[in-house]
Amino acid sequence: MNPTTISAFQSLETPFYYYDKALLQSTLRAITDEVSQYDNFHVHYAIKANANPQLLPLIAQEGLGADCVSGGEIQRALDAHFPANQIVFAGVGKTDKEILLALEHDIFSFNVESIPELLVINELAQQVNKIANVCLRINPNVGAHTHTHIVTGLAENKFGIDLSDMLEAIKIAQSLSHIHFKGIHVHIGSQILQMNDYIDQCKSINNMLYWLEQNNIVPEVINVGGGLGIDYQQPERNPIANFKDYFALYAKHLKYKPGQSVHFELGRSIVGQCGALITRVLYVKQNYMHGHVQSSLTTTYPSASITKQFVIVDAGMTELIRPALYQAHHVIVNLTSISPILQTYDVVGPICESSDVFASSIPLPTTQRGDLIAILSAGAYGETMASCYNCRTLPRTYVF
Ligand SMILES: *Cc1c(COP(=O)(O)O)cnc(C)c1O
Repeated sequence: MNPTTISAFQSLETPFYYYDKALLQSTLRAITDEVSQYDNFHVHYAIKANANPQLLPLIAQEGLGADCVSGGEIQRALDAHFPANQIVFAGVGKTDKEILLALEHDIFSFNVESIPELLVINELAQQVNKIANVCLRINPNVGAHTHTHIVTGLAENKFGIDLSDMLEAIKIAQSLSHIHFKGIHVHIGSQILQMNDYIDQCKSINNMLYWLEQNNIVPEVINVGGGLGIDYQQPERNPIANFKDYFALYAKHLKYKPGQSVHFELGRSIVGQCGALITRVLYVKQNYMHGHVQSSLTTTYPSASITKQFVIVDAGMTELIRPALYQAHHVIVNLTSISPILQTYDVVGPICESSDVFASSIPLPTTQRGDLIAILSAGAYGETMASCYNCRTLPRTYVF
C-alpha cells in the first residue's frame, strides 16, 4: 500500500474496509480482455462475494452480468444497473416472494436446484403470466480441492439436482407450460487453485452434454459456475488471478458447440484482492506460559518462561469472519510501525469468542497501541459476512 493511501487512513475512524478502485478496475479489465477473445463466454459477478453499493456499479459498467442468491441481491444488482437480462438466480431455498421479484424483472435464468422448486416456479410464473427461463443446477459429484466447507459439487452437499435425476428433471422442465428450459448449471466450489479440478468439471459436463444429445436435448446455456481462487499467501505479488489460463482451459476442454453460450459466475477472483480490512491496535499484551518447575524439595513453583504476545485490534470476527469460520489465512501488515525489529504476535479481535483470532504466531515489526494494521485480501466474503454480534456496528467502507 502506498504512503499516500496510508496517510489518508490516519484520519479515518477504524475499523473499516478499504477498496482499491484502481485494482478492481484492472482486474475487471483483465477479465473482459480475456472473455472478449471467446465469442460465447459471459461472466456474471457473484454478488454474495461483495455487495458494496459503491463497487457494484463499477462492475456493472464493465459489462458483467450478476449472479444472485437472494431477492435482496437481485434488488442490489438492479439498483447498481446490472441489466436484468444478465441476472442469474441460484439458491436451494428460493422463497415465493423472491421468485416473483425475479419473474417481474424477466431475469436471464433461474438456476433451479430441485424438482419441487421447478414446479413452484412454473406455478408462480403462470399466476403472473410470465415464462421463467430455467437452467437446472446439476450436482456433478466432482470434489474440488478446497476447504470442506466450500466444496459444493459432491453428492453429499445440499446443492443441485442429482446427476441421476437430470434427464427426468429436464423432461419435466420441457413439459411445463410456463418454464423455458435453457440449459445446465454446474458449480463445484470456491477458492479453487488446482486447474485440474476444472478439467474434471469439464469432463463431467461433457459427459452430461453427450448423454443429453443422445436424448435429443441440446442446451442453449452451459453455466460452469465460479470458484476461481486468489493468492492469499502472496497478494502483493499476485494481485490479479490468472484469468488467461482459466478461460483458456474452458475453451480447450469444454465441448460446447456454436450457438451454445458458456456462462461463468466469478466472485472472489473479482473483488478479493482489492479489499483490505484496516484496523487499529488497541493494546499489546504479553501472556506468560507457566511451566512448572520442580524444586529440590517438595514445592513446585511456576516459571514464567515462554511469552506469548497478543496484538489486540479494534476489528474482529464481526468484520471479517473467514479466519474464525474456516481457518482462512490472510496476510497481515503493520502499516505504520517503523521498527526494524520483528517480533512474534497473535493478532486477535475484541469479540468474546476464543475463535476471534486473525492470525497466530506471525512476525510483525514491533507493534504498539495506535498502529494501523491491514488485513489483506479481504474484499471477498468479508464485508458481506459482517455481523452486529456484541452490538457492534457494521464496518464503514471507503473506495478510492
Ligand atoms: C458462491 C457462488 C459463486 C461464486 O463463487 P466464487 O468462489 O466467489 O467465485 C458462483 N456460483 C454459485 C452458484 C455460488 O454459490
